[in-house]
Amino acid sequence: MSLSINFSPNAWQDPPSVHHPFLHQIREAALKYRLQSAAHFNVPIDVCQATHTSNPDRFADVDGDFQLCVGFFNFGTDPVFAVCCPVIAKRGCEKGKVMKEAVQVWSRNKFVPLMRFFEAEFPPLDGPVADEIMYQWWHANGHSFNWTGLPTEVKERIVMFCMHQSPPLPIQKKHRGRVRQVKQGAPEVVGQLRKWASLLTVSHQVRAISLRLCFAGSSDLEFNNGLCIVAESRFSFERSIRRLDKHRQLTEANGLPTDDKARALETLYKAFPKIYPHLDRFATFTHGIRKIYLELSFIHALCFFKVTAGSFAQHLRPHDLSYEVFEKLPHLNEVIFKLPDASGYLEDNLRERPVSIFYGEPFNCPRTLHRLIYERAAEVLAPYDVVKFHGFMDEDEQIRFLKFRDAAKKELKITTEELGQLYKEDYGGVELEETVVPGLEKKEMYEKVREVIMDDFWPPKCRCEKSCREVLHPSSV
Ligand SMILES: [Zn+2]
Repeated sequence: MSLSINFSPNAWQDPPSVHHPFLHQIREAALKYRLQSAAHFNVPIDVCQATHTSNPDRFADVDGDFQLCVGFFNFGTDPVFAVCCPVIAKRGCEKGKVMKEAVQVWSRNKFVPLMRFFEAEFPPLDGPVADEIMYQWWHANGHSFNWTGLPTEVKERIVMFCMHQSPPLPIQKKHRGRVRQVKQGAPEVVGQLRKWASLLTVSHQVRAISLRLCFAGSSDLEFNNGLCIVAESRFSFERSIRRLDKHRQLTEANGLPTDDKARALETLYKAFPKIYPHLDRFATFTHGIRKIYLELSFIHALCFFKVTAGSFAQHLRPHDLSYEVFEKLPHLNEVIFKLPDASGYLEDNLRERPVSIFYGEPFNCPRTLHRLIYERAAEVLAPYDVVKFHGFMDEDEQIRFLKFRDAAKKELKITTEELGQLYKEDYGGVELEETVVPGLEKKEMYEKVREVIMDDFWPPKCRCEKSCREVLHPSSV
């Protein structure tokens, strides 16, 4: 048997109206071959009846003499022409009869099973297939992917792969002079997943795996630090904390409180997450924070660390965000603090707090202010293992800070566990929550504002051995 057909594109094809039904059987076989794997599915196989004088008419019986000229092709190749015929049983009670669904092809001077012909002419390609092909393959193969059967670490690898694959978010463009409002969300978390953010809505488990990667990071990810808050002002820090706190982690089915008891437990967890880790089903994104970079102005830093030198205590407000917020971040493992910029423009902000902290040039003393901030910070941040301070006026100041920090760490005798024990024994449970009467403290605060106590300490006057001005601006002296 040999074929010589001159063809122009499509000219070799018989019109569908004369196709013999046997062709359908060949198409089914081609599909069956392609469904073997995604790599096989990646290679399309089109099957068409080729024009040939010896082709039977469309009503011809399929028997031992049946032959059909068929062209196999896809968009990348010229058609492969072959004569297809049924397989006739050679033995058994069906001997001499046409075997159902078996097709053979005349190829390289012998009959071969259709599947072997496909393997030779349309082999699967090496390398990964496109997402779209993978999707189509799963869609067509009648199986479902056994995601739930995968071990957790494999699931984690898969989610991690999504985080790797995500292209960067488009940069927000300024729109008529304003930054266009982005949809309120938690970009610190969702931004890590980018176009795969919808993973968070798949299931509790997928959400848990995805959030864990976003919070804790992984050494296999390019940005492996986990959830890191970078705030260059008090407002930006407050906004981050508040925004993240609006999003519940919801990695367990009972994470959403539905009755008063659950709501009380949630309040308890939010107040003391380190003491009640078993209630972490109520955790929000805030509780996932691992690392904080914080930069504050002088006045905000004094308030943040609750400095009380002189009569400064009167300027602290009960609801100010302070270092105490760190206690509510159970997984916080690193704090990086940049001391206020001593070489910048130093001027009181009396609208922020009615206290003068700058004496006025040439007697401004940022060194004293830095010391007030970092001495207090060394003390209150002693429980945290990784605390880094930057922005000292000179190396001596840095050494001084480290000495304070060492001393404070040594003094820190009471461990977190003991503290937890103490709370549980002495006060127990929910009663720890202070009731706050709205408005009352505000009123007190305003009264305090009206009657500011003046003292000799504020503003500190520079009496440094080498004046701060000389250190910071040598050319101006
Ligand atoms: Zn000074």
